[in-house]
Amino acid sequence: MPIRPRVVIVGAGILGTMHAVWAQRCGWDVTHLERDSEPRSATVRNFGLVWVSGRAAGEELDLALRARHLWEAFAVDAPGVGFRPDGSLTVVHRPDELAVLTEVVERSDANDRQVELLDAEATRRVNPALGGTFLGALWCRADAVVEPGHALGALRRHLTEQSVEGGPTYEFFGGRTVTEIASGVVTDHSGAHHRGDLVVVCPGAEHHAGPLADLLAGAPVRRVMLQMMQTAPLPERLTTSVADGDSLRYYPGFDVPARANLEPPAEIVDRFALQLLVSQRAGGELTIGDTHHYEEPFDFACDERPYTELATRIETILGRPLPPIVRRWTGVYSQVADGGICWRDQPLDDVWVVTGPGGRGMTLSPAIAEQTFSDHLGVTTPDPVVAAR
Ligand SMILES: Cc1cc2nc3c(=O)[nH]c(=O)nc-3n(C[C@H](O)[C@H](O)[C@H](O)COP(=O)(O)OP(=O)(O)OC[C@H]3O[C@@H](n4cnc5c(N)ncnc54)[C@H](O)[C@@H]3O)c2cc1C
Repeated sequence: MPIRPRVVIVGAGILGTMHAVWAQRCGWDVTHLERDSEPRSATVRNFGLVWVSGRAAGEELDLALRARHLWEAFAVDAPGVGFRPDGSLTVVHRPDELAVLTEVVERSDANDRQVELLDAEATRRVNPALGGTFLGALWCRADAVVEPGHALGALRRHLTEQSVEGGPTYEFFGGRTVTEIASGVVTDHSGAHHRGDLVVVCPGAEHHAGPLADLLAGAPVRRVMLQMMQTAPLPERLTTSVADGDSLRYYPGFDVPARANLEPPAEIVDRFALQLLVSQRAGGELTIGDTHHYEEPFDFACDERPYTELATRIETILGRPLPPIVRRWTGVYSQVADGGICWRDQPLDDVWVVTGPGGRGMTLSPAIAEQTFSDHLGVTTPDPVVAAR
């Protein structure tokens, strides 16, 4: 039997799981520890959007494009991830919003983002379910979607199958809260010690809990809470994900001169940092959001006003009433506040902490995890080439 290095990974959200995927691909045995019996934090509460369109030019866009490629490749091995190269439509209603989109498609990186400006008629040709009123849309063919409720389980199943076939082993321990982290050994609440040559901690927004408070002391990270909802299945298929013009206010990829001329945000947009984002689940349900709440402690209750506003907005774009709303929830993510992509730090010998990708963590995680191994640990990461399969 070959002697392989072992990594202990704490946290089985998408960042921890993508580190497990890369570790195994690089020939490491993996011990994976998760507090909940099944992960239930930001990763399973999100839209599943692999969102290239709004990423900042340069490093962030390059990383998003790399991550999209990796999602597509990993979904070949783990089809339950539910990768769909659907693209997105950012639908606008006003000339000032259209002016922003016009400048976005004239940028030098428009080809990389695969963006195109459409009038209302062309928008409906791309996505016939959009039977409502609007002026036009930005079509981004590079955007994609995965199934947040299934992706983690599908990736873990693949990791387990690989170890059965004699490759590097993968062991998952759900329902284990990690209480102590030291170089080479991690202890969980049952008192079990898990030893490895390397420890990677991906705790999501658990900045203040137990041993994570010490590891993250002084880290420039904050927590952000979002409100979300889901409908019963819509009978029509949305051929793309959908955003609206308020998303132009937030994403760095839309930071063109015309953005300064956008009408001031409506009061409800200002108050809840609201934008419309909609992705359709494989079963037809619409996942709809979102809001952004920055002040802690977060309210324990969901505010009804943004839900009403978001429902009205998507009904206007669809030109039909929504199916009943059947689920509402909140989610919290960790966001690095120093302008970086994420917080990646080595607080102890052979112990790395990776968190803070913010509202783009589902998109970027495959590429962030690859970078941990290639750029920070000096490990050769074999490239999965989709076209060669
Ligand atoms: C509502 C919402 C919508 C979003 N939409 C999108 C989107 O469409 N596209 C996109 O790119 N990004 C999106 N994001 C952001 C994205 O979901 C996050 O950036 C990403 O999921 C973070 O993954 P993570 O693994 O770091 O954290 P998490 O998913 O929070 O996972 C961390 C895990 O660590 C575990 N853990 C913590 N402490 C311990 C401990 N002591 N012991 C053991 N386990 C521990 C937790 O139980 C948890 O399972 C959204 C976020 C939210 C909240």
